[in-house]
Amino acid sequence: MRVALIAHDQKKPDMIEFVNAHDGTLRDHDCIATGTTGSRLNDETDVEVRPLLSGPLGGDLMIGSQVATGDCGAVVFFRDPMTAQPHEPDVSALLRICDVHGVPLATNVASAVALVEGVLC
Ligand code: PGA
Repeated sequence: MRVALIAHDQKKPDMIEFVNAHDGTLRDHDCIATGTTGSRLNDETDVEVRPLLSGPLGGDLMIGSQVATGDCGAVVFFRDPMTAQPHEPDVSALLRICDVHGVPLATNVASAVALVEGVLC
């Protein structure tokens, strides 16, 4: 399954820790990510991910488009709920399109663990 990984800047350490903790499972999937998240994951974990554009430059929308076409089957999106994002409309669009298509979406570590154990294992 293709899995998208996205983390806002304050949440990138959580994403790296999460991916390292579940690398055995995630390595069995086709992982994509927004640009900066993807570069950091490639540098700091053993899971190979395909970076798309950075979130503020359209990466969230690229992932949303793959959700809409059925090409991306799960999304882990560690949003920063305490900081306004310049691309908030893109963030909302991605969350919405996951709900439109019933694609599992985890927005914090606890739900991401449930997603890994319940959907990706
Ligand atoms: P980034 O994008 O991985 O390029 O930082 C994340 C986001 O802000 O959506």
